[in-house]
Amino acid sequence: MRAALLSIGDELALGQALDTNSAWLARELAARSILTDEHRTMMDDRVALAAAIRDLTARYDLLVITGGLGPTEDDLTREALGDVLTPDRPLVADTDALAGLERWFAEHRIPMPETNRSQAQRPEIMRMLPNSHGTAPGLAGRHQECLVYALPGPPREMKPMFTDHVAPDLPESVDGEVLRTINVHEYGLGEASAAERLGALTERDRKILVGTTASEAIISARIRVLGAPGKAENALEETASRVEEAWQPYCYGRDDASLSSVVGGLLGEAGKTLTTAESCTGGWLGKTVVDEAGSSAYYRGGWVTYSDKLKASCLGVPLGMLQTFGAVSEEVAEAMARGALKAAGADFALSTTGIAGPDGGTDAKPVGTVFIALARKDREGSSASVRRFRFTRGRTAVRDRTVKSALQILRFSLLGVSDDMPLLWQVPR
Ligand code: AMP
Ligand code: MG
Repeated sequence: MRAALLSIGDELALGQALDTNSAWLARELAARSILTDEHRTMMDDRVALAAAIRDLTARYDLLVITGGLGPTEDDLTREALGDVLTPDRPLVADTDALAGLERWFAEHRIPMPETNRSQAQRPEIMRMLPNSHGTAPGLAGRHQECLVYALPGPPREMKPMFTDHVAPDLPESVDGEVLRTINVHEYGLGEASAAERLGALTERDRKILVGTTASEAIISARIRVLGAPGKAENALEETASRVEEAWQPYCYGRDDASLSSVVGGLLGEAGKTLTTAESCTGGWLGKTVVDEAGSSAYYRGGWVTYSDKLKASCLGVPLGMLQTFGAVSEEVAEAMARGALKAAGADFALSTTGIAGPDGGTDAKPVGTVFIALARKDREGSSASVRRFRFTRGRTAVRDRTVKSALQILRFSLLGVSDDMPLLWQVPR
């Protein structure tokens, strides 16, 4: 079963609002083994919409439309559907829907505006889907071979309507085959090396597809398997394991896993605590750690020491060291981490210091130069290691990659991976 999604609204086509409905719907459909081949976004234009509905219903088995079901003049989805499904007949008023609208307004103690009556109109051969979260009922029907649904634009109305009234109509498997997906993520390997390591796994096979995407330096392998129930899950698991193996030790998790959730899990399991001492990331690292619910079990808190003065007074970094080597240096990164480890009494301390830019770079330390140190408690007292990076792509990217690299460094340490395991953008000694 192949599907198309049509998002309707001037605000979407003009880029004033983001079409989040399609992304959500495509994922929901994929979870039901239905592949979405096409997303279309269009203005509220009756003639153009009718042409699109004609075109998409001729080429797909399922069309889900969202938007354009409001009560105002510019909401034309009902009319456009009528133009295609019942071209010679006017829209009809649905008595149940009209009663539902009247009830909704009565319950909310608002007099019903005359324009809302249009929301009870439908092409004669479509049925209406009740809206439990708003006034616009949805529409369901069929045009030739294609199932057609029209849902309201607001996501808080669209999602429950899809779940309650569209999903139950859809087949769980198509031609006896189900679609299953897993996304596997890695950080620190780089896109080209990640793809190279996958080798033949990415060769396109109709039943097992492996594709990679990069987003904010996280590389993900999207694995998609189409097959008989049971068999599909096995093939998926086997492929996902092979990807994870190929990406060791950079691969940190699947699907919803993030570096911070994984590191949090490892700290929790080991019963260890973390503190942070941040300069160029300005609290971003601490924020990312605290994004995880339950982080109080392992995160002690940290310092944002942007000035030399605070690096000295909060973390005990010697002023002489700051003057001799500069705040952005291997020595200061290590002293920050060691100072935080001691002051917080934690098992691990991460520190960041760097030149995020756009100004402040020198020949010896160009913009994007960042030092990340990890100090840890051990049998001899404590030890520390420092890595030097040269990140690119501007201030936000430099700071984002710093946070991710710091978490990956800690993850490596928790898993016993060698400090020599290189990370993307790291400057070799
Ligand atoms: P409607 O009255 O059905 O056209 O829906 C209008 C409201 O829903 C506006 O606030 C839109 O920004 C929102 N909306 C419509 N379509 C979408 C979409 N595809 N993704 C996210 N929001 C949407
Ligand atoms: Mg609209």
